[in-house]
Amino acid sequence: MVKINETNKKMNLLTLPGDGIGPEIVRQATKIIKALSPDIIIDSAPIGGAGYDADGDPLPKTTLDKAVKADAILMGSVGDWKYDKLPREKRPERGLLRIRSELELFANLRPAMLFDDLVNASSLKPEIVSGLDILIVRELTGDIYFGEPRGIHRNNKDQREGFNTMRYSENEIRRIGDVAFQLARLRKRRLCSVDKANVLEATELWREVMIETSQDYPDVTLSHMYVDNAAMQLVKDPKQFDVLVTGNIFGDILSDEASMLTGSIGMLPSASLDKNNKGLFEPSHGSAPDIAGKDLANPIATIMSAAMMYKYSLNQSDKSDLIEKAIEKTLAQGFRTKDIMSKQSIEVGCEEMGDLILGNLFNE
Ligand code: NAD
Repeated sequence: MVKINETNKKMNLLTLPGDGIGPEIVRQATKIIKALSPDIIIDSAPIGGAGYDADGDPLPKTTLDKAVKADAILMGSVGDWKYDKLPREKRPERGLLRIRSELELFANLRPAMLFDDLVNASSLKPEIVSGLDILIVRELTGDIYFGEPRGIHRNNKDQREGFNTMRYSENEIRRIGDVAFQLARLRKRRLCSVDKANVLEATELWREVMIETSQDYPDVTLSHMYVDNAAMQLVKDPKQFDVLVTGNIFGDILSDEASMLTGSIGMLPSASLDKNNKGLFEPSHGSAPDIAGKDLANPIATIMSAAMMYKYSLNQSDKSDLIEKAIEKTLAQGFRTKDIMSKQSIEVGCEEMGDLILGNLFNE
């Protein structure tokens, strides 16, 4: 999968601020991208509730058309309780699921990495989490979120019954397996595949195909773990892991759990890639309607998502490193948003955190 875009042509970036805190966090990341890439062409479009408000559709056609043409996409987040009464197809989250599926963004990369200065922000003991650096690779376009049949019907006992279908084809499993093995090769060469093969046939096949795929990667050590044990091990001894690969629903839950190891969900970036490494980059958290518009949001997950964009889609790892170092420096200077505050730190808002990281970009 490591096939990368040209670096010398002008890049087109599409930003999708979305809802809630989305616009404020994307604004911070955009400042940094403009400083690092003065030539980049940046367009913006609505998605989620903003898409519904603009066009009656959480993924307006104009937004999808722009996304298809862009080299990379940076998203904020979607969702707000005010849309909860809309029909399912019109709800903000459908816009996100549809763009992932329309662009075939099947590989979701969620690194959970703890900055040294945040070791006390984690709810776990420092010795358990210090130095943590794991990568969760989640399959994103299959599984129970997309499987048919699905719905709510009246069953033969005249009761309402809800049902969804967990489905994985071997091709879908093999292609996410290939991505995970290749990423493991760039790290410590240890891959743990997470399933529930003792109970669910779909994941029994998952395990079989992972073992078959491993034949192509003899230099990577493959292990397997049931999802319930993985959830436990992530809080007991998270540093035992290097790369984890899992399906859509297990990955959704485990990566949120992993976010708390890093201190706050506001610290966790993500990349969703297609087979050519074109990607949609977004924080792992939601739109946090409870703090939207109050300048309280932590923009670091979104800024780290921009770092992932440079690394995975734009083939500019040097810029990715500059961003990570600027974040590290800002945290070392003691600045914190409210969600990661600790004693003796200096509390700043979303906007100021963006400015501080920007200021540290080129300051050695
Ligand atoms: P959430 O992630 O939005 O918020 C959970 C908690 O974390 C809240 O207390 C929030 O204030 C806090 N939080 C989240 N991001 C933060 C940040 N950057 N800085 C500081 N604090 C932060 O999850 P939720 O409350 O379950 O969902 C709210 C909405 O977001 C819902 O509509 C949901 O569907 C949507 N959602 C969207 C995405 C996405 O766009 N990828 C993901 C998850 C949830």
